[in-house]
Amino acid sequence: MGVDRLTSLIRDIPDFPEPGVVFKDITPVLGDGEALAILVDALAEPHKRSGITKVAGIEARGFTLATPVADRLNAGFIPVRKPGKLPHETMREDYTLEYGTDALEVHVDAVVDGEKVLLVDDVIATGGTAAAAVRLLRAVGADVVGFAVFIELGFLGGAEKLDGVPLHALVRYD
Ligand code: AMP
Repeated sequence: MGVDRLTSLIRDIPDFPEPGVVFKDITPVLGDGEALAILVDALAEPHKRSGITKVAGIEARGFTLATPVADRLNAGFIPVRKPGKLPHETMREDYTLEYGTDALEVHVDAVVDGEKVLLVDDVIATGGTAAAAVRLLRAVGADVVGFAVFIELGFLGGAEKLDGVPLHALVRYD
């Protein structure tokens, strides 16, 4: 079973969470033990010899993939969370959504200066969330060496927002 089989397990949910959005539901992939192992291996594989010591996941679906990817790379895990969720001192990054703004936070001591960090999420759409996470991780001293994502919605152009961080997507929809 390869990446093609993963693609067949991605479920399109029209008009979720709002009208006009086709939500890429990855729960059938996460719920299949064999598919999950293939997904985590495929996300980690290109980064095995990159000297990555931390993997950052974006709340909440990013957590489910970033932690096992970190384990595959013998690296630690960093949670990038919505405001008010992290208990220790944090740094905050605001970003613009289609309607309104949102924000992400990370612990100020999440990395040591210059530490190589891989960012992981399930989907890149407009790229606003990932771009904010990159700025935030850099602000606390990380060297963000890549962004590994399961699904890229290529028609939304998110890859161009990543300020030079290489994107590695397993499945791309154009
Ligand atoms: P973005 O527009 O790239 O900032 O996307 C914001 C977040 O929403 C990402 O972390 C994705 O997990 C999620 N997301 C956006 N669009 C979709 C979609 N069509 N299907 C599933 N998740 C999505």
